[in-house]
Amino acid sequence: MTRTYQDLFVNNKKWVQEVTEQKPDFFNKLSAGQQPKFLWIGCSDSRVPAEKLTGALPGELFVHRNIANVVIHSDMSMLSVLDYAVNVLEVEHIIVCGHYGCGGVAVAMGNKQVGLIDNWLRYIKDVYRLHQDELNAIDDYHKKLDRLVELNIQEQVYGLTTTSIVQNAWSQGKPLEVHGMVYDLKTGLLNDLHISRTDSSVIDNVYRLEPEYV
Ligand SMILES: [Zn+2]
Repeated sequence: MTRTYQDLFVNNKKWVQEVTEQKPDFFNKLSAGQQPKFLWIGCSDSRVPAEKLTGALPGELFVHRNIANVVIHSDMSMLSVLDYAVNVLEVEHIIVCGHYGCGGVAVAMGNKQVGLIDNWLRYIKDVYRLHQDELNAIDDYHKKLDRLVELNIQEQVYGLTTTSIVQNAWSQGKPLEVHGMVYDLKTGLLNDLHISRTDSSVIDNVYRLEPEYV
């Protein structure tokens, strides 16, 4: 258990000991550099730890997390992570992972003011508006929330494909796939939404960018 600040250091030492017993050169090797194949964009929620639930080891996932896993085109933090992952690390897969029962998505679906975060979550209200016919037809609150969680992933995946970073990678012939999935807190299982994108054919014309260098 991790209850106190000091627990973090006690647990850290235990972890180093366990890892080093199994692989004595683990930290030496890792300190030489990283070559992750995956960029993970997920929710900040403490119950959705990217490495744990995928069995990934240190060095295997490049991670960006924010509340309700939103891809916002003016978010310099997300854009910097995306640009570095695609153009420097040359990851081959970008994953946007949401989770059922997401508190951020629930706030966006409601009408209560929570504070500053309302501005961040406003983008999820746009997702609701885009899909309001389908969502308004669902009576059960939890089913509606879970569907909005899925649609939010769908729209964030779409948003990623419209970035200049992803479009340029594709026009340069880089092998880059963008995936959407949802984590189920109740079962621990990942649900692949089968909306993986491998080229710019799915992008509506208005978002299309001509190749950067012609
Ligand atoms: Zn969440």
